[in-house]
Amino acid sequence: MSTYRVYMGTEASTSVEVQAEDREDAIEKAYEKFQGVILCHQCAHEVDLGDFEVPVDKDYAVELVE
Ligand SMILES: [Zn+2]
Repeated sequence: MSTYRVYMGTEASTSVEVQAEDREDAIEKAYEKFQGVILCHQCAHEVDLGDFEVPVDKDYAVELVE
């Protein structure tokens, strides 16, 4: 028997609220405002997070709140 390390991935998401003129402006301001996600020590040992990007091809990517 051998030992294998199997990497597993998942999708992670977060959201940022901004004041903006339109969807494009909202995306731009969200990138400016977003500071990233900081994991606690235990999670950082077990999970690697990639860069967060706005999935601009998805309808849910920019939601009008009010
Ligand atoms: Zn944690």
